Amino acid sequence: MKNPRIVVDRTKLRENISFIVAKLKEHDLTITAVTKVFNAYSQIIALYEEFSDIIYFGDSRIENLMSYSHSKKQKILIRIPMISEVPEVIQYADISFNSELKTIQLLDCEAQKQKKLHKIVLMVDLGDLREGFFEKEELFDCIREVMKLKNIQIYGLAVNLTCYGAIIPSSKNLGNLVAIQEEIKERFDLSLEMISGGNSSSLYLLDSPEDQLPSGINNLRIGESFVLGRETAYGADYQVMHQDVFTLVTEIVEVKQKPSYPIGEIGVDAFGKKPHYVDKGKMLRGIVAIGQQDIALDDITPKDSQIEILGASSDHLLLDLTQSEREYQVGDEIEFSVSYGSVLSTFTSKYIKKEFIN
Ligand SMILES: *Cc1c(COP(=O)(O)O)cnc(C)c1O
Repeated sequence: MKNPRIVVDRTKLRENISFIVAKLKEHDLTITAVTKVFNAYSQIIALYEEFSDIIYFGDSRIENLMSYSHSKKQKILIRIPMISEVPEVIQYADISFNSELKTIQLLDCEAQKQKKLHKIVLMVDLGDLREGFFEKEELFDCIREVMKLKNIQIYGLAVNLTCYGAIIPSSKNLGNLVAIQEEIKERFDLSLEMISGGNSSSLYLLDSPEDQLPSGINNLRIGESFVLGRETAYGADYQVMHQDVFTLVTEIVEVKQKPSYPIGEIGVDAFGKKPHYVDKGKMLRGIVAIGQQDIALDDITPKDSQIEILGASSDHLLLDLTQSEREYQVGDEIEFSVSYGSVLSTFTSKYIKKEFIN
């Protein structure tokens, strides 16, 4: 049993990692390799381990940090911890991103129990309106309290942009982060190790003719750029990188000539939505064995550009094969290129096999 499967080209991924690592090093930035997009899959983790310039592994799920607990890299929980996972955070994360004093105080209690010094990075919200301290005074009040805790070290500040609010990183907003750091140094006599200026959407600032990454930012957290070969502020591909590290391969289970317009009264589809159809006459329809349980329709593109995706239920993906030059048969494979969402979901789905080439 080999289908459906996601195929990973190791050589291409290695070259991508190499390119980004060199780029960040050139700008004196430390690197947090974010592992959530490929579900911290062990064979991919092994590739990242080859790069000693990657100092940190970051993930939003504690289960993923647990899966590489043997790694020598420093492990960062990059999502604000749940209070209910505090024991695991102390056990498996060297560093966690935080924005709630109550949670930090509980981390301190647990760190004391486990006889550990736990590092925290405080999240600052610079306008994307996802996580982090929005009011500077609240951040300073928190720092004042955290400095009383014995088993917590304030390791740095971080911002996350282009996630909820789709806000583009700039010298202006990231400059605020650097300014806050300087104010902390003055007020509390506290030097911070890590000033983390965002994710793959901050990378464009390293090459931008109009704007730049403010000095003072010394770390970026990169997930998508490594695996898909592009920066994510404007979605520009890096010409020298590979955008096709991953290929999704599916298998045809039915090919038949059928009408394009369903017959009978139209109610709601498998997901409770009322669909609209265009009558294009008879068409050659193919079904491949994958569905919305594994991927979102917008996140995959057939490599054969003459194939059109018609729709999907949870386990059947319907394709219009009418225009294709190839004569597809039952049992044939159909390949798709993938985007961020489908890499994430195919690595999460137990039904999608993982294959490594090169
Ligand atoms: C997911 C995530 C990242 C990585 O983002 P990419 O766009 O994949 O580079 C970095 N930081 C945080 C807090 C995240 O949640």
